[in-house]
Amino acid sequence: MDKNTKICIIGAGPAGLSAGMYLEQKGYENYTILERNDHVGGKCHSPHYNGRRYEMGAIMGVPSYYAVHDVEEFCGITHDGPKLNRNYKDRSGKVIEPFNPKKNPLRIPHLMAMRKQVKKLGELLETKYKGYDINGHRGVAQGRYEGFAVTPGREPVSGVNENLKDLALPFNEFCELNGVELIRDIWIGPYTSFGYGYFDEIPAAYVLKYLDFQTTMNFVNINLWTWKEGTQFIWESLDAKLKNHARLNSDITKIERTDGKVFVTVNGEVEVYDKLIVTAPLQFFPDYADAREDEKEFFSKIDYERYDVLAVETKPEDHPEISYYVFDNMTPERLGHLMVYYRRWRDSKDQVITTYALRKHKNTAEIPYDICKKTVLDDLKTMGNPASAVVNEQSWYYFPHVFSEDYASGWYDRVEAMQGKYDTFYAGEIMSFGDMDETAEYSKELVERFF
Ligand SMILES: Cc1cc2nc3c(=O)[nH]c(=O)nc-3n(C[C@H](O)[C@H](O)[C@H](O)COP(=O)(O)OP(=O)(O)OC[C@H]3O[C@@H](n4cnc5c(N)ncnc54)[C@H](O)[C@@H]3O)c2cc1C
Repeated sequence: MDKNTKICIIGAGPAGLSAGMYLEQKGYENYTILERNDHVGGKCHSPHYNGRRYEMGAIMGVPSYYAVHDVEEFCGITHDGPKLNRNYKDRSGKVIEPFNPKKNPLRIPHLMAMRKQVKKLGELLETKYKGYDINGHRGVAQGRYEGFAVTPGREPVSGVNENLKDLALPFNEFCELNGVELIRDIWIGPYTSFGYGYFDEIPAAYVLKYLDFQTTMNFVNINLWTWKEGTQFIWESLDAKLKNHARLNSDITKIERTDGKVFVTVNGEVEVYDKLIVTAPLQFFPDYADAREDEKEFFSKIDYERYDVLAVETKPEDHPEISYYVFDNMTPERLGHLMVYYRRWRDSKDQVITTYALRKHKNTAEIPYDICKKTVLDDLKTMGNPASAVVNEQSWYYFPHVFSEDYASGWYDRVEAMQGKYDTFYAGEIMSFGDMDETAEYSKELVERFF
């Protein structure tokens, strides 16, 4: 493609800003990033409280966040945040140690069986499911893998593996098929409580591409990255470094693609581009763009989670001494309950605590926001850490995905086949997974494949 190609990128979250970085590094400097909000970072959102930043959105990374590391290197920053730690409570607020055999002598056989199954899954992923962890979903439903290896060098890899079709199954069924049901006790912590839905509804592909074996072990061993100034700082730093900074407060009301050009109406003015990269939720693309029938059909299949975050103050005597996971509340029956609450800094009680709850499951009615909020505040009381005030709250459009039937029938391959068709490229969470690194990695790959 001509290096002077005029490219419009919609969205200044990790996907859009990293697309700008990778384009620039490849010699494309004629790009514009349009952002609707008055700030960059998207779901990496780190407001201030008493002189420090806390996280309303993304919190942490792991050492295999290679694309995020590219950004850090480009910007000269590093993951310099507080070291995370956590404990567990049951739904009545009692502190428990579910993985400690000494504290649970009756559970020793269960814990030993679980350990065996974790080992078994690790072996299966390396052999039977070779290629499972490649970024994105190209070919999976056809029993193929194609993309870049999850290594610092990200070498291109491809191959045929019929077993990969199993990844379209809901994760519960995938575990049953492989006799590894007990591993869910480990995987659920960084999965469901992080807002990515329930194991009876979500295809295994999403679970295992995000929580590949290595990443899960990093969670188990609390080998995690955080950023002192918040995850938003990563993307603010990138925006500052890019030749073309994101244009904030951009209200896109119309997009027309005709005669090999893309006409974007932004804040009432028409701008003309050669190519479009959409990192904003594709589900809403037809609301403002001349979406074609195939785009409308595929994008209407996308579902998403309602992931609610509260930032609360507590009285000093009610402040938790550490973050807590509440496994009992990570099942569909306990929809709308507090699944995890997070204390970011170890050295102070003068900070907010953030709480996390899901209020939607494929098979049940969505719980209204206010009811979920009340339930979470009640749960905090039960946990012995009542809130004295809510200082911030957000219900996120979260983790766009498709369900098993659409996954198995090749949704991803069909959307991938549309890349570039209408001078339009699709990136962002739905194309890979809803975390900072997978979205940035996907943008890298998109630039390498098409530009
Ligand atoms: C509570 C929470 C916790 C999380 N924890 C983690 C974590 O610990 N680790 C991790 O890696 N990830 C985490 N994530 C997920 C991570 O933040 C997202 O997956 C990532 O930000 C996705 O990047 P993106 O650019 O695809 O989308 P987004 O971050 O959603 O950015 C999209 C951007 O597009 C803009 N936009 C949307 N529509 C339009 C439009 N029409 N016109 C112009 N602009 C538009 C939005 O304003 C936004 O800035 C978390 C997210 C949340 C909410």
